[in-house]
Amino acid sequence: MPNAYTIVDHTYDCVVVGAGGSGLRAAVGLVQAGFKVACITKVYPTRSHTVAAQGGINAALGNMGEDDWRYHMFDTVKGSDWLGDQDAIEYMTKNAPQAVYELEHFGVPFSRTPDGRIYQRPFGGQSIRFGEAQAARTCAAADRTGHALLHTLFQQALRNKVEFYHEYFALDLLMDDDGACRGVVAMCIEDGTIHRFRAHVTVLATGGYGRVYHSCTSAHTCTGDGNAMVLRAGLPLQDMEFVQFHPTGIYGVGVLITEGARGEGGYLTNCNGERFMERYAPKAKDLASRDVVSRAIMIEIMEGRGCGPNKDYVELHLEHLPPEILHERLPGIMETARICAGVDITKEPIPVVPTCHYNMGGIPTNWRTEVVCPRDGDPDAVVPGLMAVGEAACTSVHGANRLGGNSLIDLVVFGRAAAIHTAERLRPGMPHPELRRDAGQESIDRIDRLRNARGSLTVGQIRTEMQKTMQHYANVFRNGPTLEEGCRKLAEVAKSLEDVRLEDRSLVWNTDLIEGLELQNLMLQAVATIHSALYRTESRGAHAREDYPERDDVNWLVHTLVWVDDRYQVRFDRRPVHLYTLSNEVEPIPPQKRVY
Ligand SMILES: Cc1cc2nc3c(=O)[nH]c(=O)nc-3n(C[C@H](O)[C@H](O)[C@H](O)COP(=O)(O)OP(=O)(O)OC[C@H]3O[C@@H](n4cnc5c(N)ncnc54)[C@H](O)[C@@H]3O)c2cc1C
Repeated sequence: MPNAYTIVDHTYDCVVVGAGGSGLRAAVGLVQAGFKVACITKVYPTRSHTVAAQGGINAALGNMGEDDWRYHMFDTVKGSDWLGDQDAIEYMTKNAPQAVYELEHFGVPFSRTPDGRIYQRPFGGQSIRFGEAQAARTCAAADRTGHALLHTLFQQALRNKVEFYHEYFALDLLMDDDGACRGVVAMCIEDGTIHRFRAHVTVLATGGYGRVYHSCTSAHTCTGDGNAMVLRAGLPLQDMEFVQFHPTGIYGVGVLITEGARGEGGYLTNCNGERFMERYAPKAKDLASRDVVSRAIMIEIMEGRGCGPNKDYVELHLEHLPPEILHERLPGIMETARICAGVDITKEPIPVVPTCHYNMGGIPTNWRTEVVCPRDGDPDAVVPGLMAVGEAACTSVHGANRLGGNSLIDLVVFGRAAAIHTAERLRPGMPHPELRRDAGQESIDRIDRLRNARGSLTVGQIRTEMQKTMQHYANVFRNGPTLEEGCRKLAEVAKSLEDVRLEDRSLVWNTDLIEGLELQNLMLQAVATIHSALYRTESRGAHAREDYPERDDVNWLVHTLVWVDDRYQVRFDRRPVHLYTLSNEVEPIPPQKRVY
């Protein structure tokens, strides 16, 4: 029987951590380029959170009328409240149509128009001719687009013989003294053995960290482990104050109702039956950008116009739409509303509230997906051997606010980019430098301490305290004094981790241990998020400060970089936003006032 200290060494050209949409796309591309690739994943690939994506994936195909990738680029820059890097946004929107056709050829069963083209629905923040009229740019497979995409990519990964390490939990990066990344150390969840993966390139594709909040739409597994690995390696995270609250989480449960519901004609009302979005976004109304709609809902509730006995939610109406459209385009939503809210959407509205949904912040990268960290006066210096893609990365194509449908396209465009740029720099089978003999020892010590922790609090108790603190102090609206109080409160919760107790010491399955490791990871990111929110004294995109209600381009048109050490001490720096484009096919878009 192996024990926790059995160490197994592996050598690959590349290792991808994560098997969601971004990790799988990167792994497939790397194998196709001839590399020997390991893909490590803590859950079976088809259980990654990508499977839950509902509404769709954006690309300017123009199947439903006029469209152009330049309009998509404009909308994304505007949606980002000008915090997005325009070189990366140009790359994503220009390559989006090709990426969607590639998915179609891989076998994604997209919904179709009557003449057989990929069906596209209108989503929030989309326009044609730079804001003139609503666009329909979101390609959909009914309301189960992520499911279709993830399963198809997994099949491609199997076909290309990606070597999977299922149910292995990555613990830490293996960093060399010269600052380069040489691979990762992971634990096999089933038997507790330790595995060191040596690789020239490590691609982090570990997804978001929605679980720092009490009410969120993301899976239990969305704990941002890659982000925490980066912090422990002494590298910074970027723009962590920008957390997207989706306007339509089901009241009380947090489960998502896709923006596609409003794209298909759904609308919101307050307790007076008023379609209040007309007041906040006269042109786009219910299809304004997510941050705008979430704030509008919170204002309605705070001013006493919420619905229900406690006046603490609003209602999403679909009952006016023909039942056959609901059956064809929103079958998953019908089921979800019935199971989670007891609502028949053909007859009655769904109670909804803004719910944590997506993390714009994460591991800073350039448009090639290389991780960056300022060094010797260069704000964009690359960390050798380390890449990041998907929700874990801050590339930054979403800036201060992501548009619906733009994450799935980000996954495949940049997953592919990681493979392309690796193939430009490396050849398969190159020799590896020696690993330090004790590489990974700190991680082993950490899990050993946790496994034997005999304090008075369970992982669940501490996690709930952390989630409630974040929910209360770093929600849709923020302000200085409450954030300061939140930082103090969270410091106490983080300290209480020293008093944690693990019930199960056995080396088999390690469920309790994994939850403890995930909690350590979440805590680092909660601290990064709430401190970054206090640091940024302006309102931009999803970050709304009541005490600084205006956007401040003079002082804050910059990315926030945050370091958090093992004693939860934070340090900040800033990086310039890329307000330039890659090619001369499009002009940079100068900051403007953002109205919908
Ligand atoms: C309910 C819901 C609906 C959504 N709908 C849409 C939509 O319609 N359109 C859109 O564009 N976006 C949507 N999004 C956002 C989008 O789905 C996600 O941002 C995206 O799927 C994230 O993909 P990813 O590849 O970055 O990571 P994920 O799919 O989250 O996968 C993370 C992977 O990392 C692995 N992993 C994590 N930690 C470790 C570790 N320590 N060791 C080993 N492996 C690890 C996991 O096993 C998993 O395989 C939605 C999100 C949610 C929550």
